[in-house]
Amino acid sequence: MTDKLIIFDTTLRDGEQSPGASMTQEEKVRIALQLEKLGVNVIEAGFAAASPGDFKAIEAVAKKIQKSTVCSLARAVKNDIEKAGHAIQSAASGRIHTFIATSPIHMENKLRMTPDQVLNRAVEAVKWALEYTDDVEFSAEDAVRSEIPFLVEVFDAVIQAGAKTINVPDTVGYSIPFQWGDRIKQLIDKVPNSKSVIWSTHCHNDLGMAVANSLSAVLNGARQVECTINGLGERAGNASLEEVVMTVKTRQDIFNLQTNINTEFIVPTSRLVSTITGYAVQPNKAIVGANAFAHESGIHQDGVLKHRETYEIMKAEDVGWGANKISLGKLSGRNAFKNRLETLGIDLDSDDLLNAAFEKFKNLADKKSEIFDEDIHALISDEYSADTAEIFKLISLKATAEINKKPTAQITIDRYGEELSEDSVGSGMVDATFKAIEKIVKSDSELLLYSVSNITTGTDAQGEVTVRLAKGGRVVNGQGSDTDIVIASAKAYINAANKILSKLERAHPQV
Ligand SMILES: [Zn+2]
Repeated sequence: MTDKLIIFDTTLRDGEQSPGASMTQEEKVRIALQLEKLGVNVIEAGFAAASPGDFKAIEAVAKKIQKSTVCSLARAVKNDIEKAGHAIQSAASGRIHTFIATSPIHMENKLRMTPDQVLNRAVEAVKWALEYTDDVEFSAEDAVRSEIPFLVEVFDAVIQAGAKTINVPDTVGYSIPFQWGDRIKQLIDKVPNSKSVIWSTHCHNDLGMAVANSLSAVLNGARQVECTINGLGERAGNASLEEVVMTVKTRQDIFNLQTNINTEFIVPTSRLVSTITGYAVQPNKAIVGANAFAHESGIHQDGVLKHRETYEIMKAEDVGWGANKISLGKLSGRNAFKNRLETLGIDLDSDDLLNAAFEKFKNLADKKSEIFDEDIHALISDEYSADTAEIFKLISLKATAEINKKPTAQITIDRYGEELSEDSVGSGMVDATFKAIEKIVKSDSELLLYSVSNITTGTDAQGEVTVRLAKGGRVVNGQGSDTDIVIASAKAYINAANKILSKLERAHPQV
């Protein structure tokens, strides 16, 4: 057994399947570059056959990424595998991840195939995939409810066909750690030539055990874990990358394994993913929650001050807390700004975009003395969202709040060069602002989520707002950032309305 644990990140595929978390191509590339910096071994960039947008996004990620392997998911269907193969063609290192369900309930009711047909199809799929890359991963969907003898038969056959990685997923999040570890152990013991492949696990968090199940699999021989940043993912999410990685690192005495993760990029990566998807991180979330390293009780604080290890098992700075160094200030010029973007892996496609972003940076620097990397990411998200779908643009906003008076908002918005103004009262300034905006944009959509978070600390920090709107089954996220949260809220609402009205193509549309 190798002493390396392979980290397979599926934030851009499984994570993207969270409601409303679908991303544009530019957003996927930006996250992929950050994942590469973080040091993940494999980036699952999407599901090429799902939509033309997702195909293009995988292709764009494959072109940019040099160090990590770029992977596309594909059903065990010829067309899916062809699309995946083409999407990863230009990758420095490309993988096809093909899957078929092996549980009786899925085979009978979903696939309507006999076990023999499933077995043959699995082998065929691996052979088709090998025409595009020699790095082929095979997954037995719903392995948790599949029969062990059948799994052994299928895995034996796909290994003989040339699969290099065998993934055992708990697709429905049903397993218990000791049981999951035992299943992995049995499979590795029973499958012939099991030592010639990497065993992988992919666990869902429906019972809150995705990380525990993944680690139990690792203790029983799995050497690849499929996970996502912040545990994002379908339903209750996937195993969280940061928790898996930090457990293995903190408990070397138990695991004795190395990952390739540069842990000081964990918090910045978590921030970027939550900015782009609009999924805020709960404050008490392990590793990346705002309170993960905060000691409230006096006894704890006293202990930590006297001797850190009394209450701390990890160092906050090791996972990137407090690492947000001031990167730029008011006097920084265009070149310094451009260099910083390059270091952050942000590549603006045109001089126009760069100039517009620099303009925004200067405005921000007037309001806020210290500009952090997180501020720059937020500014770029803002710039791109404004650039991609512009029916409406915020021109001016005046909102007032006074005790014992109804809050009011007056807003002026540009629609294709025409200035439109409206006002409204509301239960608060944000509510009044949204009502005034809606009078102009008439998006007629339902507000599903409104969330505010601060990008860095301090009262002059930028507030970042996500507004999630739904209309006719379509769900979009709008983002806005500003040092004033009412203005950030207005920007986010207008951004979401633009997306819903312009039908901006998401890489992987959710309908
Ligand atoms: Zn999954």
